[in-house]
Amino acid sequence: MPSAALPPPVDAWATVSRAARPVLRELLVNGPRTRTDLARLLGLSTGSLTRLTKPLTASGLVVEGATVHDPANGRPTRPLDVVAADHHFLGVKLTADRLYAVVTDLRARITAETTEPLEAPTPDAVSAQIARVRDRLTTAGTPPAAAGITLGGTARPTADSTTAPRFDAPFLGWRDVELRDRLTRGTGVPCVVENDVTALAHAQRWFGAARGLTDFALLTVGAGIGYALVQHGRMVPAGAADLSAFSHHVLDPGGPMCTEGHRGCLASYLSTHSVLAAAAHGLRRPVTLDEVAALARAGDPVCRNVLGPAAWALGAALATVANLCLIKDFVVAGEGLVLLDGAQRSMQAGIADRRHRDPDSLRVTLLSPHFGEWARGAAVAAIRAFVLRED
Ligand SMILES: [Zn+2]
Repeated sequence: MPSAALPPPVDAWATVSRAARPVLRELLVNGPRTRTDLARLLGLSTGSLTRLTKPLTASGLVVEGATVHDPANGRPTRPLDVVAADHHFLGVKLTADRLYAVVTDLRARITAETTEPLEAPTPDAVSAQIARVRDRLTTAGTPPAAAGITLGGTARPTADSTTAPRFDAPFLGWRDVELRDRLTRGTGVPCVVENDVTALAHAQRWFGAARGLTDFALLTVGAGIGYALVQHGRMVPAGAADLSAFSHHVLDPGGPMCTEGHRGCLASYLSTHSVLAAAAHGLRRPVTLDEVAALARAGDPVCRNVLGPAAWALGAALATVANLCLIKDFVVAGEGLVLLDGAQRSMQAGIADRRHRDPDSLRVTLLSPHFGEWARGAAVAAIRAFVLRED
Protein backbone atom coordinates (compact mmCIF):
# COMPACT_ATOMS: atom_id res chain seq x y z
CA MET A 1 0.00 0.00 0.00
CA PRO A 2 1.45 3.43 -0.77
CA SER A 3 2.22 5.26 2.44
CA ALA A 4 1.54 8.82 1.32
CA ALA A 5 -0.77 9.31 4.30
CA LEU A 6 0.80 9.92 7.71
CA PRO A 7 1.48 6.67 9.57
CA PRO A 8 -0.78 5.90 12.54
CA PRO A 9 0.53 7.60 15.73
CA VAL A 10 2.39 5.50 18.28
CA ASP A 11 -0.67 5.59 20.55
CA ALA A 12 -2.55 3.50 17.97
CA TRP A 13 -0.52 0.44 18.97
CA ALA A 14 -1.94 0.75 22.49
CA THR A 15 -5.42 0.07 21.12
CA VAL A 16 -4.45 -3.39 19.81
CA SER A 17 -6.27 -6.02 21.82
CA ARG A 18 -4.23 -8.49 23.83
CA ALA A 19 -5.61 -11.29 21.62
CA ALA A 20 -4.39 -9.57 18.44
CA ARG A 21 -0.87 -8.83 19.69
CA PRO A 22 0.58 -12.23 18.63
CA VAL A 23 -0.58 -11.45 15.06
CA LEU A 24 1.27 -8.14 15.10
CA ARG A 25 4.38 -9.68 16.65
CA GLU A 26 4.50 -12.41 14.01
CA LEU A 27 4.23 -9.88 11.16
CA LEU A 28 6.71 -7.52 12.76
CA VAL A 29 9.39 -10.05 13.54
CA ASN A 30 9.03 -12.52 10.67
CA GLY A 31 7.65 -10.41 7.82
CA PRO A 32 4.53 -10.64 5.62
CA ARG A 33 2.25 -13.67 6.04
CA THR A 34 -0.90 -14.91 4.37
CA ARG A 35 -3.94 -15.26 6.58
CA THR A 36 -3.75 -19.05 6.17
CA ASP A 37 -0.13 -19.03 7.39
CA LEU A 38 -0.92 -16.77 10.32
CA ALA A 39 -3.87 -18.92 11.41
CA ARG A 40 -1.72 -22.07 11.26
CA LEU A 41 1.26 -20.50 13.05
CA LEU A 42 -0.85 -19.05 15.84
CA GLY A 43 -3.21 -22.02 16.20
CA LEU A 44 -6.30 -20.00 15.26
CA SER A 45 -9.24 -20.70 12.96
CA THR A 46 -9.30 -18.52 9.85
CA GLY A 47 -12.55 -17.01 11.18
CA SER A 48 -10.88 -15.97 14.44
CA LEU A 49 -7.91 -14.60 12.55
CA THR A 50 -10.11 -12.50 10.28
CA ARG A 51 -11.92 -11.13 13.35
CA LEU A 52 -8.59 -10.20 15.00
CA THR A 53 -7.04 -8.59 11.92
CA LYS A 54 -10.04 -6.51 10.87
CA PRO A 55 -9.40 -3.68 13.39
CA LEU A 56 -5.67 -3.82 12.58
CA THR A 57 -6.21 -3.21 8.86
CA ALA A 58 -8.93 -0.63 9.58
CA SER A 59 -6.50 1.41 11.72
CA GLY A 60 -3.67 1.18 9.17
CA LEU A 61 -1.35 -0.68 11.55
CA VAL A 62 -1.52 -3.71 9.24
CA VAL A 63 -1.82 -3.51 5.45
CA GLU A 64 -2.58 -5.96 2.67
CA GLY A 65 0.14 -6.54 0.07
CA ALA A 66 -0.22 -7.36 -3.63
CA THR A 67 -2.25 -10.46 -4.55
CA VAL A 68 -0.31 -13.74 -4.59
CA HIS A 69 -1.45 -17.35 -4.88
CA ASP A 70 -1.60 -19.06 -1.51
CA PRO A 71 0.88 -21.97 -1.64
CA ALA A 72 -1.40 -23.96 0.70
CA ASN A 73 -4.54 -23.97 -1.47
CA GLY A 74 -3.66 -22.08 -4.68
CA ARG A 75 -6.29 -19.39 -4.05
CA PRO A 76 -5.45 -15.75 -4.63
CA THR A 77 -4.69 -13.99 -1.37
CA ARG A 78 -3.19 -10.71 -0.15
CA PRO A 79 -0.52 -11.25 2.55
CA LEU A 80 -0.68 -9.03 5.61
CA ASP A 81 2.26 -6.92 6.70
CA VAL A 82 3.23 -3.93 8.82
CA VAL A 83 4.54 -0.80 7.11
CA ALA A 84 7.92 -0.94 8.85
CA ALA A 85 9.57 1.95 7.02
CA ASP A 86 6.89 4.46 8.07
CA HIS A 87 7.73 4.26 11.78
CA HIS A 88 10.97 5.42 13.34
CA PHE A 89 12.42 4.87 16.80
CA LEU A 90 15.33 6.60 18.49
CA GLY A 91 17.72 4.44 20.51
CA VAL A 92 20.41 5.94 22.76
CA LYS A 93 23.00 4.04 24.75
CA LEU A 94 24.84 6.02 27.42
CA THR A 95 28.33 5.15 28.63
CA ALA A 96 30.35 7.03 31.26
CA ASP A 97 31.44 9.68 28.77
CA ARG A 98 29.68 9.19 25.40
CA LEU A 99 26.30 8.63 23.86
CA TYR A 100 25.64 6.34 20.92
CA ALA A 101 22.40 6.98 19.04
CA VAL A 102 20.56 5.28 16.19
CA VAL A 103 17.24 5.70 14.46
CA THR A 104 15.62 2.45 13.33
CA ASP A 105 12.46 1.51 11.51
CA LEU A 106 9.81 -0.72 13.01
CA ARG A 107 11.86 -3.84 12.24
CA ALA A 108 14.90 -2.43 14.06
CA ARG A 109 16.82 -1.72 10.84
CA ILE A 110 19.18 1.23 11.42
CA THR A 111 18.44 4.24 9.19
CA ALA A 112 20.75 6.79 10.86
CA GLU A 113 23.39 6.76 13.58
CA THR A 114 25.83 8.98 15.42
CA THR A 115 28.03 9.13 18.48
CA GLU A 116 29.38 12.05 20.50
CA PRO A 117 30.94 12.79 23.89
CA LEU A 118 28.54 13.61 26.74
CA GLU A 119 28.64 17.37 27.21
CA ALA A 120 27.99 17.09 30.94
CA PRO A 121 27.08 13.97 32.90
CA THR A 122 24.01 15.38 34.67
CA PRO A 123 20.51 14.00 33.94
CA ASP A 124 19.23 17.38 32.70
CA ALA A 125 22.21 18.00 30.42
CA VAL A 126 22.00 14.46 29.01
CA SER A 127 18.27 14.88 28.39
CA ALA A 128 18.87 18.15 26.50
CA GLN A 129 21.67 16.58 24.48
CA ILE A 130 19.47 13.62 23.49
CA ALA A 131 16.80 16.07 22.26
CA ARG A 132 19.39 17.77 20.03
CA VAL A 133 20.64 14.41 18.71
CA ARG A 134 17.04 13.43 17.91
CA ASP A 135 16.60 16.63 15.87
CA ARG A 136 19.82 16.10 14.00
CA LEU A 137 19.19 12.45 13.17
CA THR A 138 15.69 13.05 11.88
CA THR A 139 16.25 15.99 9.54
CA ALA A 140 16.12 13.65 6.54
CA GLY A 141 13.18 11.49 7.63
CA THR A 142 10.04 11.28 9.72
CA PRO A 143 10.66 12.03 13.40
CA PRO A 144 10.83 9.10 15.80
CA ALA A 145 7.56 7.97 17.34
CA ALA A 146 9.25 6.99 20.59
CA ALA A 147 12.70 6.66 22.15
CA GLY A 148 14.55 4.08 24.21
CA ILE A 149 17.50 5.06 26.40
CA THR A 150 19.75 2.43 27.97
CA LEU A 151 22.58 2.66 30.47
CA GLY A 152 24.70 0.52 32.75
CA GLY A 153 22.41 0.99 35.70
CA THR A 154 19.60 -0.71 37.52
CA ALA A 155 16.08 0.50 38.18
CA ARG A 156 14.85 0.57 41.74
CA PRO A 157 11.64 -1.44 42.25
CA THR A 158 8.45 0.63 41.73
CA ALA A 159 5.00 0.22 43.19
CA ASP A 160 3.39 -0.24 39.76
CA SER A 161 4.20 0.01 36.05
CA THR A 162 2.86 3.57 35.73
CA THR A 163 5.36 4.98 38.24
CA ALA A 164 8.54 6.18 36.54
CA PRO A 165 11.45 3.99 37.65
CA ARG A 166 14.38 5.61 39.47
CA PHE A 167 17.85 4.57 38.38
CA ASP A 168 21.21 4.07 40.00
CA ALA A 169 23.93 4.41 37.36
CA PRO A 170 27.36 4.22 39.01
CA PHE A 171 29.30 4.83 35.75
CA LEU A 172 27.54 8.21 35.46
CA GLY A 173 27.60 8.95 39.17
CA TRP A 174 23.74 8.91 39.30
CA ARG A 175 21.84 7.70 42.33
CA ASP A 176 18.07 7.46 42.58
CA VAL A 177 17.49 9.47 39.39
CA GLU A 178 14.12 9.66 37.59
CA LEU A 179 14.80 9.61 33.87
CA ARG A 180 11.74 8.44 31.94
CA ASP A 181 9.49 11.45 32.51
CA ARG A 182 12.42 13.87 32.33
CA LEU A 183 13.44 12.47 28.92
CA THR A 184 9.85 12.38 27.67
CA ARG A 185 9.52 16.09 28.52
CA GLY A 186 12.93 16.87 27.01
CA THR A 187 12.52 14.97 23.74
CA GLY A 188 8.79 15.46 23.21
CA VAL A 189 8.23 11.75 22.46
CA PRO A 190 7.35 8.87 24.77
CA CYS A 191 10.53 7.41 26.28
CA VAL A 192 11.47 4.23 28.05
CA VAL A 193 14.66 3.75 30.09
CA GLU A 194 16.16 0.32 30.63
CA ASN A 195 19.32 -1.45 31.73
CA ASP A 196 21.58 -1.76 28.68
CA VAL A 197 22.33 -5.49 28.97
CA THR A 198 18.65 -6.37 29.47
CA ALA A 199 17.71 -4.27 26.43
CA LEU A 200 20.44 -5.83 24.29
CA ALA A 201 19.30 -9.35 25.23
CA HIS A 202 15.68 -8.56 24.33
CA ALA A 203 16.80 -7.00 21.04
CA GLN A 204 18.74 -10.13 20.16
CA ARG A 205 15.70 -12.25 20.98
CA TRP A 206 13.32 -10.24 18.80
CA PHE A 207 15.51 -9.02 15.94
CA GLY A 208 19.03 -10.40 16.35
CA ALA A 209 21.26 -13.43 16.78
CA ALA A 210 18.87 -15.14 19.21
CA ARG A 211 15.73 -14.68 17.09
CA GLY A 212 13.43 -17.66 17.52
CA LEU A 213 15.35 -19.06 20.50
CA THR A 214 13.49 -19.66 23.75
CA ASP A 215 16.66 -20.36 25.77
CA PHE A 216 19.94 -18.47 25.53
CA ALA A 217 22.36 -16.35 27.53
CA LEU A 218 23.95 -13.01 26.71
CA LEU A 219 27.35 -12.15 28.18
CA THR A 220 28.85 -8.71 27.74
CA VAL A 221 32.49 -7.83 28.19
CA GLY A 222 33.54 -4.23 28.82
CA ALA A 223 33.88 -1.85 31.74
CA GLY A 224 31.71 -4.37 33.61
CA ILE A 225 30.74 -7.97 32.91
CA GLY A 226 27.06 -8.24 31.96
CA TYR A 227 24.81 -11.28 31.96
CA ALA A 228 21.23 -11.96 30.91
CA LEU A 229 19.53 -15.35 30.84
CA VAL A 230 16.42 -16.14 28.81
CA GLN A 231 14.64 -19.37 29.60
CA HIS A 232 11.34 -20.58 28.17
CA GLY A 233 11.12 -17.32 26.22
CA ARG A 234 11.30 -15.14 29.34
CA MET A 235 14.17 -13.25 30.85
CA VAL A 236 15.13 -14.49 34.31
CA PRO A 237 14.92 -11.46 36.64
CA ALA A 238 18.30 -10.45 38.05
CA GLY A 239 19.12 -7.73 40.56
CA ALA A 240 22.34 -5.82 41.14
CA ALA A 241 23.53 -8.40 43.69
CA ASP A 242 22.96 -11.29 41.24
CA LEU A 243 24.91 -9.55 38.50
CA SER A 244 27.74 -8.63 40.85
CA ALA A 245 27.92 -12.27 41.97
CA PHE A 246 28.11 -13.35 38.33
CA SER A 247 30.90 -10.98 37.37
CA HIS A 248 32.91 -11.97 40.45
CA HIS A 249 32.32 -15.71 40.03
CA VAL A 250 35.71 -17.33 40.60
CA LEU A 251 37.02 -19.39 37.70
CA ASP A 252 40.52 -20.05 39.05
CA PRO A 253 41.54 -19.28 42.67
CA GLY A 254 45.14 -18.87 41.44
CA GLY A 255 44.19 -16.26 38.82
CA PRO A 256 44.78 -12.50 38.74
CA MET A 257 43.25 -10.17 41.35
CA CYS A 258 40.21 -7.93 40.71
CA THR A 259 39.56 -4.52 42.24
CA GLU A 260 37.50 -6.19 44.99
CA GLY A 261 40.35 -8.47 45.96
CA HIS A 262 39.11 -11.78 44.48
CA ARG A 263 41.59 -13.97 42.71
CA GLY A 264 40.59 -15.40 39.35
CA CYS A 265 37.02 -14.04 39.09
CA LEU A 266 35.53 -13.18 35.67
CA ALA A 267 36.15 -9.47 36.19
CA SER A 268 39.80 -10.08 37.13
CA TYR A 269 40.43 -11.55 33.67
CA LEU A 270 37.92 -9.79 31.46
CA SER A 271 36.92 -6.31 32.60
CA THR A 272 38.44 -3.47 30.61
CA HIS A 273 40.09 -2.17 33.78
CA SER A 274 41.76 -5.56 34.47
CA VAL A 275 42.97 -6.00 30.89
CA LEU A 276 44.38 -2.48 30.68
CA ALA A 277 45.99 -2.66 34.13
CA ALA A 278 47.70 -5.99 33.34
CA ALA A 279 48.91 -4.78 29.93
CA ALA A 280 50.11 -1.43 31.33
CA HIS A 281 52.00 -3.22 34.10
CA GLY A 282 53.84 -5.42 31.58
CA LEU A 283 54.46 -2.67 29.03
CA ARG A 284 55.30 -0.06 31.69
CA ARG A 285 53.04 2.52 30.03
CA PRO A 286 49.30 3.22 29.74
CA VAL A 287 47.50 1.59 26.77
CA THR A 288 44.04 1.46 25.17
CA LEU A 289 41.99 -1.65 24.36
CA ASP A 290 42.54 -1.25 20.63
CA GLU A 291 46.28 -0.92 21.22
CA VAL A 292 46.41 -4.07 23.35
CA ALA A 293 44.48 -5.97 20.66
CA ALA A 294 46.77 -4.69 17.88
CA LEU A 295 49.93 -5.47 19.86
CA ALA A 296 48.70 -8.99 20.61
CA ARG A 297 47.97 -9.57 16.92
CA ALA A 298 51.48 -8.38 16.11
CA GLY A 299 52.89 -11.00 18.50
CA ASP A 300 53.73 -8.79 21.51
CA PRO A 301 54.33 -11.31 24.34
CA VAL A 302 52.95 -9.08 27.12
CA CYS A 303 49.63 -8.44 25.37
CA ARG A 304 49.31 -12.05 24.24
CA ASN A 305 49.78 -13.13 27.85
CA VAL A 306 46.95 -10.82 28.93
CA LEU A 307 44.53 -11.70 26.12
CA GLY A 308 45.07 -15.44 26.11
CA PRO A 309 43.89 -15.86 29.73
CA ALA A 310 41.06 -13.32 29.15
CA ALA A 311 39.73 -15.33 26.20
CA TRP A 312 40.16 -18.54 28.20
CA ALA A 313 38.10 -17.00 31.04
CA LEU A 314 35.30 -16.08 28.64
CA GLY A 315 35.20 -19.67 27.35
CA ALA A 316 35.26 -21.08 30.88
CA ALA A 317 32.39 -18.73 31.86
CA LEU A 318 30.28 -19.77 28.86
CA ALA A 319 30.81 -23.45 29.64
CA THR A 320 29.97 -22.90 33.33
CA VAL A 321 26.67 -21.24 32.40
CA ALA A 322 25.93 -24.07 29.95
CA ASN A 323 26.67 -26.71 32.57
CA LEU A 324 24.52 -25.12 35.29
CA CYS A 325 21.62 -23.69 33.24
CA LEU A 326 21.50 -26.43 30.59
CA ILE A 327 21.53 -24.01 27.67
CA LYS A 328 23.68 -24.17 24.57
CA ASP A 329 23.13 -20.87 22.76
CA PHE A 330 25.17 -17.80 23.66
CA VAL A 331 25.49 -14.28 22.39
CA VAL A 332 28.57 -12.32 23.46
CA ALA A 333 28.83 -8.56 23.05
CA GLY A 334 30.77 -5.58 24.30
CA GLU A 335 33.80 -3.44 23.56
CA GLY A 336 36.04 -6.13 25.10
CA LEU A 337 35.40 -8.35 22.09
CA VAL A 338 38.15 -6.50 20.20
CA LEU A 339 40.45 -8.54 22.42
CA LEU A 340 39.13 -11.85 21.14
CA ASP A 341 40.32 -11.17 17.63
CA GLY A 342 42.97 -13.83 17.16
CA ALA A 343 42.38 -15.36 20.60
CA GLN A 344 39.42 -17.58 19.78
CA ARG A 345 41.49 -20.70 20.25
CA SER A 346 42.02 -19.69 23.88
CA MET A 347 38.25 -19.20 24.27
CA GLN A 348 37.67 -22.70 22.89
CA ALA A 349 40.26 -24.04 25.35
CA GLY A 350 38.31 -22.39 28.18
CA ILE A 351 35.11 -24.06 27.02
CA ALA A 352 36.85 -27.44 26.71
CA ASP A 353 38.37 -27.12 30.21
CA ARG A 354 34.91 -26.79 31.79
CA ARG A 355 32.85 -28.93 29.43
CA HIS A 356 34.75 -32.13 28.95
CA ARG A 357 32.39 -34.32 26.98
CA ASP A 358 31.00 -32.14 24.22
CA PRO A 359 32.73 -28.75 24.08
CA ASP A 360 31.62 -28.29 20.47
CA SER A 361 27.93 -28.38 21.43
CA LEU A 362 27.90 -24.70 22.47
CA ARG A 363 26.79 -22.25 19.81
CA VAL A 364 28.46 -18.88 20.44
CA THR A 365 27.65 -15.77 18.39
CA LEU A 366 30.03 -12.84 18.82
CA LEU A 367 28.42 -9.48 18.06
CA SER A 368 30.25 -6.43 16.78
CA PRO A 369 32.31 -4.81 19.57
CA HIS A 370 30.99 -1.38 18.54
CA PHE A 371 28.29 0.41 20.48
CA GLY A 372 25.89 0.73 17.52
CA GLU A 373 24.45 -2.66 18.43
CA TRP A 374 23.74 -1.39 21.96
CA ALA A 375 22.01 1.73 20.62
CA ARG A 376 19.91 -0.54 18.40
CA GLY A 377 19.02 -2.45 21.58
CA ALA A 378 17.78 0.84 23.03
CA ALA A 379 15.60 1.48 19.96
CA VAL A 380 14.18 -2.04 20.32
CA ALA A 381 13.37 -1.20 23.96
CA ALA A 382 11.08 1.52 22.56
CA ILE A 383 9.57 -0.86 19.99
CA ARG A 384 8.95 -3.41 22.74
CA ALA A 385 7.42 -0.86 25.09
CA PHE A 386 5.21 1.02 22.63
CA VAL A 387 4.51 -1.46 19.80
CA LEU A 388 5.06 -5.08 20.83
CA ARG A 389 3.75 -4.24 24.30
CA GLU A 390 5.28 -7.22 25.99
CA ASP A 391 3.33 -8.53 28.95
ZN1 LIG B 1 36.15 -10.06 41.54
